[in-house]
Amino acid sequence: MVGAGVAGLAVATLLARAGHRVVVLERFDRPAPVGSGLMLQPTGLAALQRLGLREEIAALGARIDRLHGTTDRGATVFDLAYGDLAPGLHALAVHRAALHGVLWQAFAACGARIETARAVAGVAEHADRILLHDATGATLAEADIAIDASGARSGLRALVDPTPPRAFAYGAVWASVPDPGLAPGMLLQRYVDARIMLGWLPVGRAEAAGKPLAALFWSIKPGDHAAWAARFDGWRAEAAALWPPIAPVLAALPGPQAFTPATYIPFTAKRPWRGRLVLLGDAAHATSPQLGQGANSALLDALALADALAAEPAHETAFARYAAARRAHVRFYQRASAVITPFFQSDARSLAVVRDLVFDRLKIVPWLRREMIRTLAGLKTGLLAHRDPAVLAGGAIPPPSPGPAPGRS
Ligand SMILES: Cc1cc2nc3c(=O)[nH]c(=O)nc-3n(C[C@H](O)[C@H](O)[C@H](O)COP(=O)(O)OP(=O)(O)OC[C@H]3O[C@@H](n4cnc5c(N)ncnc54)[C@H](O)[C@@H]3O)c2cc1C
Repeated sequence: MVGAGVAGLAVATLLARAGHRVVVLERFDRPAPVGSGLMLQPTGLAALQRLGLREEIAALGARIDRLHGTTDRGATVFDLAYGDLAPGLHALAVHRAALHGVLWQAFAACGARIETARAVAGVAEHADRILLHDATGATLAEADIAIDASGARSGLRALVDPTPPRAFAYGAVWASVPDPGLAPGMLLQRYVDARIMLGWLPVGRAEAAGKPLAALFWSIKPGDHAAWAARFDGWRAEAAALWPPIAPVLAALPGPQAFTPATYIPFTAKRPWRGRLVLLGDAAHATSPQLGQGANSALLDALALADALAAEPAHETAFARYAAARRAHVRFYQRASAVITPFFQSDARSLAVVRDLVFDRLKIVPWLRREMIRTLAGLKTGLLAHRDPAVLAGGAIPPPSPGPAPGRS
């Protein structure tokens, strides 16, 4: 296993529990989460349920029932409630440290081994083994299969799919801040055209004894980071004008060093495996977090790969089974993220105008409203198809299709 992130810790735990001998190689001295908060959708929660970790994470995170986005002129761009799809349906926003901590506890108890300060730079296959080596060519491990869960900047994925990843024009800066309860139960966003986006997400606690936190994010082009940091006080005023309740939180920030910059890389492996190397999580499919699906998909990948390895004795058929199980869901969200991101993060004014005129009106049509919530909830497997969270997490038999299209649930 390469990488002790979301996908890596989850799949290592599942495989070790199934009796495999698992070694995780992590580049950092101490595996640690990078960044602030993220949304666990009903899919990710179903995956954590199968891992036996749902209660632990629910005790730390903040329940999210609604997503609310408005422009600086007060126009509603979206206002969607998960409960409009099914009573009780909700997401859970978590601090990254909380998710990492919960996954880490399960990993620590599963019998897998971790070696830190091991940056894997390449692999080579010899007969029926695969060797993982570092940048000097020294062998770090030898195994039956190698799983690359090294994230959006994977250096190994090119061995599987040489398509060079590009970068989205916009990234963001993120900070974890104390949450005075400004927007309980909701992900809140404010926009100016598609150039500016302020986001606020209550994420609960990083650890049991911690105080409630929120993730604060601001869209930014990677090349503009230094200029943004240099005019930090001006930015504070701009952000406070966009959403006045946040002013005291901004006033308490020490400076730009409170924020972590993030860039987004779109990449989708056509086939996420080659030989004895298989890609998982962001290494297989990275995108912008606009639809908030990445960690959820990483968890679903982990379950699908563990299930496939349990069902198939040969690694080729297991990898093919894993890829087939995940294909429709991954493809939908990679495409949907690529289409939707420029409406929220780009220089295209025309897209912002269309967004402001159209998005919120779409939900007047009940079917479209349900489809929009399904998309956010991570349930879509095609333009007209969706699945229950438990089915996507591989833990339930698909119910019979109620709709006209055969095979849809
Ligand atoms: C700003 C931002 C906001 C996001 N918001 C959301 C959200 O709301 N909801 C959501 O579901 N997702 C969100 N995501 C996406 C989510 O964080 C990722 O999809 C998820 O972390 C992917 O998990 P992973 O295990 O594939 O990779 P990662 O979690 O990135 O883990 C990769 C691991 O591999 C290690 N590694 C890297 N290279 C090597 C190497 N060469 N050798 C050994 N180890 C290596 C790294 O140190 C790391 O530990 C967001 C992402 C960003 C950047």
